[in-house]
Amino acid sequence: MVGLRGVGKTVLLDRMRNDAEGSGIQTLRVEAPESRSLPAILAPQLRQALLRLSRDEQAKDLAQRALRALAGRAAVPARRVGPTRFRGGTLVPVVATLRFYAELNDFLPASRRQVAFVHHWDGRVSIKDLIEGLGVPHTAVDLLLANGEAVGFDYLVADGDRVAAYPVFESFDIAPVSRVRPEPLRDPRFVLDAHLGRLAAWLRLAGFDCLYRNDIGDAELAATAARERRAILTRDRGVLLRRAVTHGYLVRETNPERQLAEVVARFDLRRLARPFSRCMRCNSPLDEVEKRAIAHLVPARSREAFDQFQRCQGCSRIYWKGSHYERLVRLLAGASVPVPDALQGRPSGRPVG
Ligand SMILES: [Zn+2]
Repeated sequence: MVGLRGVGKTVLLDRMRNDAEGSGIQTLRVEAPESRSLPAILAPQLRQALLRLSRDEQAKDLAQRALRALAGRAAVPARRVGPTRFRGGTLVPVVATLRFYAELNDFLPASRRQVAFVHHWDGRVSIKDLIEGLGVPHTAVDLLLANGEAVGFDYLVADGDRVAAYPVFESFDIAPVSRVRPEPLRDPRFVLDAHLGRLAAWLRLAGFDCLYRNDIGDAELAATAARERRAILTRDRGVLLRRAVTHGYLVRETNPERQLAEVVARFDLRRLARPFSRCMRCNSPLDEVEKRAIAHLVPARSREAFDQFQRCQGCSRIYWKGSHYERLVRLLAGASVPVPDALQGRPSGRPVG
């Protein structure tokens, strides 16, 4: 399709691509500036398409033959047409193939999920700016590969690169290659955005250190996370796009109990949980406390029914294994957080007040 800039070619092409891909037809869109020959433009695109097909040996052989043929064609020098008129400077089209893994796909439009797709743009761009331009926050990414090699966020994407991006707290075994981050968070501590109050309470119930305030702003959330080395849990993708944020996770679920299950699974928290060891209200650790020391603070019926009590080091709230206890154990079990048998004999559960 030939035409001047700004006459709606892109809109029309996008619609054609959507229709074609909806019918299961693969499409390839190439922007062809006048200063480059057609083989030079098409060769990298075809090379990428062939490499994607080269998984089995027979296809690989065919692909290699095709690539050799292309190598000759692509060597045809570009037709010179004088200074380019594009954007008043030298136009350097860059074409890369990208593939995002696991939940990173949540950030992409449907047509780009779980598949390798070709992306092109003009000029130099870092891999960080490239993936963020596609809507994927860099904070969600733990490992970037360019042509199979691990690279950092400042890597400049080159024409023909194959880029693969893996999420933070991956379920994949990517141990042999180094990650973007020097080390993953192995002491999981969190700071939650203002919409996740119930999740904060349930994570504390499971024993995890969670900062939460219902009036915390985005900037303070990011600053707190950086200062205290906490992972941000948020329902707002914009928070994760902030430069200062290094560890963060976009919570997908809306129901707090399912959010707990989601976070436990995503951060692999199961074995690190210490249920009923932390105050659900203020996040401080709980201490065992003598019954007689707190007897006057507990309703008579509970005083008679229970012998074991815990007191919060921070807010002095008293916990015992009251009528809510079984419900809380079930809630934890629903998120795959086990409550050891021994613990079930310990005082816990329904808070006073
Ligand atoms: Zn407390």
